[in-house]
Amino acid sequence: MRTPLLAGNWKMNGSVELVEAFGRAFAEAELPEGVEVAVFPPFPYLHAAQNAFADTSLLLGAQSLNPVHSGAHTGEVSGNMLCEFGVRYVLVGHSERRQLYREGDEEVFSRVLAALSVGLTPVLCVGESLEERDAGRTMEVVLRQVGFVMSRLEPEQRACVVIAYEPVWAIGTGRTATPAQAQEVMAGIRDYQASYNRELAEGLRLLYGGSMNAGNAGELLAQPDIDGGLVGGASLKVDDFLAICQSA
Ligand code: PGA
Repeated sequence: MRTPLLAGNWKMNGSVELVEAFGRAFAEAELPEGVEVAVFPPFPYLHAAQNAFADTSLLLGAQSLNPVHSGAHTGEVSGNMLCEFGVRYVLVGHSERRQLYREGDEEVFSRVLAALSVGLTPVLCVGESLEERDAGRTMEVVLRQVGFVMSRLEPEQRACVVIAYEPVWAIGTGRTATPAQAQEVMAGIRDYQASYNRELAEGLRLLYGGSMNAGNAGELLAQPDIDGGLVGGASLKVDDFLAICQSA
């Protein structure tokens, strides 16, 4: 009953040529029924992607947004601007933003609100570092990140959020969480939501991210609480990303 979502996060990679290659490949590709696939290219490629994906079922995502709608914020992009290019999803709280750009929980929350206020679906990224996992603090860290945002939202807003669990030690390292490790944390996130509202928790879409590839996607996506994937490196090669989508 939850629509699976495969999301390709290109990070600061790609080109107009790659956007066009995805458009051509997905126009012909056979995808499993009822699966959503979204590509998150860097901002400058959104317009080209909107055109190149017009004849495909690919949805568009963006990698960030500023919490305010307009004004003196040199270098920033607002949710309204993303909507003009047909963007449907936006990443918030990715671990690279948390680490490299010091986006803390408050900042993440304000970006989730900004996304919701213009009708974008925020993909809230959470995950523990290796030190936190080794110290047995995985659930505490992940539920703090989830809870900080979700507990401040109205129930109808909570229903619009997608959560991506991405263990920081698995991102870009080639070291994937085992299906059992990912399932354990993701079931914990759903249980936590169920303590607020069981129906919302049942509908909550949870993605796994961290070195997902064509070889491990099938097993990860078969877990009961994994509703899709947030794919970085493997979303840059059209054949690899297609194979991941086809294993959903
Ligand atoms: P990765 O990145 O698939 O390259 O590990 C995932 C992400 O950062 O979203």
